Amino acid sequence: MSRQSAPVSLDDIRAASAHIAGRVLRTPMVQSTGLSELVGVPVHLKLEHHQTTGSFKLRGATNAVLSLAADERASGVVAASTGNHGRALAHAAKAEGAVATICMSRLVPENKVAEIRRLGANVQIIGRSQDEAQDEVNRLVAEKGMVMVPPFDLPAVIAGQGTLGLEIMEQLPDAATVLVPLSGGGLAAGVAAAVKGLNPKARVIGLTMERGAAMKASLDAGRPVQVEELPSLADSLGGGIGLDNRLSFAMCRDLLDDVILLSEEEIAAGMRHAYSVEREIVEGAGAVGIAALLSGRVRSEGPIVAILSGRNVDMNLHRRIINGAESLSKEDAA
Ligand SMILES: *Cc1c(COP(=O)(O)O)cnc(C)c1O
Repeated sequence: MSRQSAPVSLDDIRAASAHIAGRVLRTPMVQSTGLSELVGVPVHLKLEHHQTTGSFKLRGATNAVLSLAADERASGVVAASTGNHGRALAHAAKAEGAVATICMSRLVPENKVAEIRRLGANVQIIGRSQDEAQDEVNRLVAEKGMVMVPPFDLPAVIAGQGTLGLEIMEQLPDAATVLVPLSGGGLAAGVAAAVKGLNPKARVIGLTMERGAAMKASLDAGRPVQVEELPSLADSLGGGIGLDNRLSFAMCRDLLDDVILLSEEEIAAGMRHAYSVEREIVEGAGAVGIAALLSGRVRSEGPIVAILSGRNVDMNLHRRIINGAESLSKEDAA
């Protein structure tokens, strides 16, 4: 695929990087002695879980809010995410003086609701499911003219996430393999476009959980498909890619070299290693890169970068995993 024909190009990502500079953190990258010895090539950890709001999602959300026309910004932005995208959009909108409305169902736990409110968003509690929350988003778009900012399938979001790839290549120009957590594919699409735009020989590998990996199933089927959603330690990697996916599916299909699936036990081991050895608190989704390296399934001729994508994990759950639990308990999965 030529650069010009990609839906999100290296130039788009460079422009996003200029836009969001000063509004998001440039996160550190550190070499892991233990993982380097284990794998036999230098392994670097991109500590993106130190990002403001606790995940890389702030990059895409900030770029999306900055891309709005003045009248769109005045109408406000809206989304249905209760997780890292919701937090990021709430923060990004507030920082730019816009109003974010986050719709969520009555089943979302009170601490998540409070967290999104604390970040300055207007919370609309509606219905009993994520689908009903999304119906409310659609209504607010149709009736109030709000602008929906989806978590991955939007050029401005993909370009924003891609700035993480630019940073990696600035910090380690000879990176040979980049390990990217994969769900809807906005992060993987953006990072792969940046990394391969700068070095076509570099490999980009997507990592996700065995339980309910919609992008992997879609790549295997050759088109977006739905999979049953199951509780996982990597809860930020859950959810579908959208049967009407326009961009992230095609970009992942064209740009990813491989996708590796991790079991719950492997993800738990990744979180445990991150904490006990690297001294980092990461959520399950952020630990899949370390999990894949520990499992011995990553081969690379040169330096490897693993993106630690987020840190928003319930600390009681984190403690149980550190103390040896291998998966979610019944109460976590509830
Ligand atoms: C959203 C998210 C991902 C996956 O990003 P996609 O763009 O949906 O593939 C990975 N890790 C964390 C912590 C996330 O919040």
